[in-house]
Amino acid sequence: MREFFIHIVLELKLNITPIQEWFPAFQKPLLFVGPCSAETEVQVLSTAHLIAQQFPHAVFRAGIWKPRTRPNTFEGIGDAGLQWMKKVKSETGLLTATEVATAEHVEKCLEAGIDILWIGARTTVNPFSIQEIADALKATNVPVFIKNPIYGDIQLWAGALERINNAGITKIAAIHRGFHSYDNGPFRNSPNWEMPIELKSICPDLPIVCDPSHIAGTPSLIPYIAQKAMDLAMDGLMIETHINPKVALSDAKQQVTPDELFKIVSDLRIRSASTENVEFQTTLDEFRKHLNKIDNELLELLAKRMAISTKIGEYKRDNNVTILQVEHWKKIIDKGLRLSEQLGLREDFVKGLYQLIHDESIRRQTDVMNKKLD
Ligand code: PEP
Ligand code: MN
Repeated sequence: MREFFIHIVLELKLNITPIQEWFPAFQKPLLFVGPCSAETEVQVLSTAHLIAQQFPHAVFRAGIWKPRTRPNTFEGIGDAGLQWMKKVKSETGLLTATEVATAEHVEKCLEAGIDILWIGARTTVNPFSIQEIADALKATNVPVFIKNPIYGDIQLWAGALERINNAGITKIAAIHRGFHSYDNGPFRNSPNWEMPIELKSICPDLPIVCDPSHIAGTPSLIPYIAQKAMDLAMDGLMIETHINPKVALSDAKQQVTPDELFKIVSDLRIRSASTENVEFQTTLDEFRKHLNKIDNELLELLAKRMAISTKIGEYKRDNNVTILQVEHWKKIIDKGLRLSEQLGLREDFVKGLYQLIHDESIRRQTDVMNKKLD
């Protein structure tokens, strides 16, 4: 299987209101914290009060309708939870957020004065559901955060953002919650960092919140993911926080207590996007110039290499030999990987690179073979 990601989204144009205008108190990281699910009034309010003491500008999240993968699990408290969210708002001053998956959810949230809506990973995969939500949102400009789809199709993520934006919602942001794959490594969902990076590079104005809870699946990995998100210049963090995670009715294994949340957030190193320091800028420019030069040399070397591939193709054709010589290619990779190890290059990076070079080489040789013999 390919271990690298091929960039496929070419363009994403969204009309976005700068986040500072919808959160006047905006400061990185924007915190989306609160339980996976609203379970009881006491659980919701006690969690919210502890959060508000430390983070008065946080957004309080709680799932009211829960899209559970398997039936016969807790599917959310339903409408009653909306009243508890109203109390959270009036008693703590925190903004409130919940997940919507249908037009009916949207209507109920708007009626209950929920400040922010998010669309879950299981909903982003379905354009019909997204369109239904978009239609229900018309004529409002309530902030909407869209989680990545459960599997790694960036087009679906982009499409959901476009549909909601086309409905007139300009207070729009993305949530990176990781992707299901059959090899998630130590995580519940693979982070596939290249996806949010790709999204940010095609749409630089789009705020992105990382959800380390659903990526990590366990509290011990949350600080690592949260720090990485900050280092990648993401705007916020969604961290599931429960007054007593052990007895949570959903996602018990990954929720943290308000005290643990405080420690995670306090330990974060928030770096700035740039600095006024002139010496820093000059040195950085020097590094970049050097990199540019090396990148150009890499391209020149690749062009030379491919020219030889073409020649080999011609030679094989003239001698009636097949293009693909698996044994030979395996040897090259093994040798390359041994050298890469000595050079301190990561194995999966080198494998991906070799794969790309090999594919192109085969394409070149196929072109030669398919040319008529003169
Ligand atoms: C959640 O935030 O509790 C949730 C259901 O998340 P996701 O849609 O990312 O699975
Ligand atoms: Mn959850």
